[in-house]
Amino acid sequence: MHRPHIRSVAVAVVATTAVTCLAGQALAAPAAGPNRTASSAGSTALVVAAARAAAFAHASATGVTQGDELRPEDVMLDPEGARHVRFVRTHQGMPVLGGDLVVHLSRSLAYTGVTRSADHTVKPATTAPKLTAAQAAAKAAAAAQGTAGAAQLVVDARDGGSALAYQVRVDGAATSESTGSRTVVVDAVTGEVRSNTPDSDEFLSPHLLSVLHGDGQVIDPATYNKPPAGSFGSGTAVANTFPKTVTGTGSSLFVGSVPLTTTQTARTTYVLKDPTRYGTETRDAQGAELENFAGGKKITSSGNAWGNGATSSRVSAAVDAQYGVTKTLDFYGKTFGRKGIEDNSKGAQAMVHFGNKIANAFWDSTCGCMLYGDGDGQQFKKPLVALDVTGHELTHGVVDATAKLEPTFVDAWGNQYGEPGSLNESLADIFGSNVEFFANNAKNPPNYLIGEKLGLAQKFLRRLDHPSLDKLEGTIDYWSASTYSTEVHAGSGVSSHAYYLLAEGSGKKTIGGVAYDSPTYHNVTVKGIGRTKATAVFYRALTRYMVSSTDFHDARVATLQAAKDLYGAGSTEYKTVDQAWGAVNVTAANTPAARN
Ligand SMILES: [Zn+2]
Repeated sequence: MHRPHIRSVAVAVVATTAVTCLAGQALAAPAAGPNRTASSAGSTALVVAAARAAAFAHASATGVTQGDELRPEDVMLDPEGARHVRFVRTHQGMPVLGGDLVVHLSRSLAYTGVTRSADHTVKPATTAPKLTAAQAAAKAAAAAQGTAGAAQLVVDARDGGSALAYQVRVDGAATSESTGSRTVVVDAVTGEVRSNTPDSDEFLSPHLLSVLHGDGQVIDPATYNKPPAGSFGSGTAVANTFPKTVTGTGSSLFVGSVPLTTTQTARTTYVLKDPTRYGTETRDAQGAELENFAGGKKITSSGNAWGNGATSSRVSAAVDAQYGVTKTLDFYGKTFGRKGIEDNSKGAQAMVHFGNKIANAFWDSTCGCMLYGDGDGQQFKKPLVALDVTGHELTHGVVDATAKLEPTFVDAWGNQYGEPGSLNESLADIFGSNVEFFANNAKNPPNYLIGEKLGLAQKFLRRLDHPSLDKLEGTIDYWSASTYSTEVHAGSGVSSHAYYLLAEGSGKKTIGGVAYDSPTYHNVTVKGIGRTKATAVFYRALTRYMVSSTDFHDARVATLQAAKDLYGAGSTEYKTVDQAWGAVNVTAANTPAARN
């Protein structure tokens, strides 16, 4: 489940990414062809300046207005020539929630179009709050049942209006699974709580957990528990200088024996930290609900051999986590040239043994890390460290760093609703599956199933080829008018199904020993273009043509544009994107009128 960090629209992320953009380091690579165009810091600044000027020059299309200020979050230079700048917006100095936009330019920096979140002009009726910051913080603390930080004035444009509001981070908020932080937005005029959103992202939604509980299912997946005889990595290598990059051997719970790149810090001391992947590291939260990676206990070994393939070693789960995180980084790096989850050359962090008897795994945007519970010992018997769980959750981190797709509604239990949130869940499943294909581990054969290692009675949690075979979350196969208010995991089936059809086509197909039989709306036949091209289309659409409010019909337009960029408007690939969406009942003809 996705828990967006709305506060990222505010100061911190904006300031840091603006700096990295201007330093020329935050350029997302194209999905195909040469990975990266050479670019000096100067030319990146030039592109940002041109995009900003174009946004104001084309105000009727972009919706920016007097008093708006645009800060760059990402700059993309495509080798084919197009330039794209993702902006967040402030209005009279106040961050605009739902004010994000991507300005598209040609190679010669001429304006070619915009992808925008708010489709209205952002203009608050008043800039004078009726509530004081302290009153807003008190309301937020009461709503989220925790300790409120400072309240910041913002403009909330997410519902089509321009409400003057306060945004407050509340720590130690009471949530269903664990205590964590929440972002609460309080109307600065009426005092109404406009949204109350958890900051971390749970793999298993409160709704699903209650369904499983009602079923009385006990989930105890088989693990690999036979470490290879005599495996001790390269710990015997003699070195005089430390730290040193070395290769060890991990005995995981779910993926067998795997090589791990680690750090040797002394003659017989190794740390589960990978210097070749920006210092990506897994630590032990020691049963605490730590959301601060620095507070985690370093995982060390005297022989560079890690875990024993069973939960009797605390390190086994850490092997799965570190393996999953590094495979996810490698998938994004080798496929798209992405340098880390946020494309900022920083490592990813994970903590295992998070909390006491927690049956979940989280992407925590506050921590910037993955948190893995051990299971509750009753319903979930094992830690939730499977490879596709990690690929799914870290993809939420990639979405947070790009389109920032937001749910339209969060209920009191933390369940989320709405098409942009559903699209976020779907992208997490699509790229999570791709991490499995990339890793191609015989102990975890790649497929289009999600959560097949969890040990659920239906053998998977979700699946991309025929989403409605899932009976736990009620995932749907096709779009309808009611999808707009569907729970996000259930709704994810629409675009996951479209992706599968684009990649593999409709009908019966056996891939890697798994039988698929993907249905279509009105029984049309779709012939797939292959997983590699389908994934390139979706990644390009995510990074360039999606924003926080992108719904399924917008996603259709985004992927069509991406296919046009990559393969041409008349290409088979372009036509198949259109067919794949049509086959899940998302068409130009049934595009809803603007909702606001
Ligand atoms: Zn999710």
